[in-house]
Amino acid sequence: MRTRFAPSPTGRLHIGNIRTALLCWLYARKAGGEFLLRLDDTDSERSREEYVEAIREDLQWLGLNPDREVRQSARVLHYDAAVEKLKNAGRLYACYETETELETKRKMQLALGKPPIYDRESLRLTDKQKAQFAAEARKPHWRFRLEDGAIVWHDEIQGARHFEARNLSDPILVRENGEYTYMLPSAVDDMELGITHVLRGEDHISNTAIQIQLFEALGGAIPAFAHNALIKTKEGKLSKRKGSSTIADLRTQGIEPMALCSFLAKVGSADAIEVRHSLKELVAEFSIAKFGKSQTMYDVEDIARLNEKLVHDLPFEAVQARLPEGMDAPFWETVRGNIVSVSEAAEWWAICHSDHREESHAAVDPSASLQDDNFLAQSAMILPPEPWDSATWNIWMDAVKNTTDRKGKELFMPIRCALTGRDHGPEMKVLLPYIGRARAIRRLNA
Ligand code: GLU
Repeated sequence: MRTRFAPSPTGRLHIGNIRTALLCWLYARKAGGEFLLRLDDTDSERSREEYVEAIREDLQWLGLNPDREVRQSARVLHYDAAVEKLKNAGRLYACYETETELETKRKMQLALGKPPIYDRESLRLTDKQKAQFAAEARKPHWRFRLEDGAIVWHDEIQGARHFEARNLSDPILVRENGEYTYMLPSAVDDMELGITHVLRGEDHISNTAIQIQLFEALGGAIPAFAHNALIKTKEGKLSKRKGSSTIADLRTQGIEPMALCSFLAKVGSADAIEVRHSLKELVAEFSIAKFGKSQTMYDVEDIARLNEKLVHDLPFEAVQARLPEGMDAPFWETVRGNIVSVSEAAEWWAICHSDHREESHAAVDPSASLQDDNFLAQSAMILPPEPWDSATWNIWMDAVKNTTDRKGKELFMPIRCALTGRDHGPEMKVLLPYIGRARAIRRLNA
């Protein structure tokens, strides 16, 4: 059992791409198989090294490590050999139409209400015409001649699929400049790298029909296919080029890898979408049979909600490296319930430690009155002596209650606002010792 994730390094990965990567990875891990990263970089103009790096980085961040990485740009000799084989078998033919000519053909067909299928005009060229083109040094592109008949397969997600070859255009495999289009290298690699299960987006379904004929023409074993339904956003289709919801964006927004994986492993499946803390759990729950063919909607809010839940449970050890220096487990454990992303913990750390916050605190509570000022000054005077611990807050609050006529919210809210600049947040009994007596006095009197 071997799967592959085959991105083209022409942009940053978006959640649709990563969903395919994750499903391929889970599919392989569940079966005890292998997961390959195949970089489809035959398009030398659009492929970029920075995107190759970014793909590796995104996969690593999510924990989807490949067992092996291959690059199509390093395998051109294999594609050349396949081309020879197809030419010898009479399945590849030279075509001389220009882009404009092809476009005109398509428009005419559409105007006549016909499907825009290539009419095989170049297949009917006489030897004389071909010699003429050669004399003019015109470079052909090469099309694969599809064989008439039904192309059928059982798709692991879509069920029975059926195409009639005559409803498909003979695909271009080699461009005028000698570069390969996606079609042939993908089939050659799937064959030669021993890919047993091809899982990819449903936008590749008609490519599968063509590639089945390629596998047959090249004498390779036909892998199992699964085409996952595409994810749509409220704005429409996801696109790598439009830069919608790239993994990098989500990462900067503070989304945790497991929040993303928890969502993407289940969306479009029969399982409920819930927080999972490890890929191992997702492997255990994975089954391709749970996936359906209907399109799924994606809203970044769904992931944000999962993320919040996940952050509330994250143990200190899991996040320590990303926390400000000095932040300890008790502090993390008290703030994590009040934040939606790990980086927000730093804000609470700064709230407790910064000496430049005093001025802004006073401005927070619009209902703060002179009465409050007096109350806060009075409370400051009876702050217990240090050292402070988690019992200090209650001792102090009892004392304040006894010396003023306030209780409940009227009592602690002005104090919370004065000390933190916010009217909500982690438990004051935990924060107070971090703020410390000197700072507390300054803030209460500000
Ligand atoms: N490079 C293709 C893509 O990104 C790969 C499709 C496939 O999995 O065969 O869409």
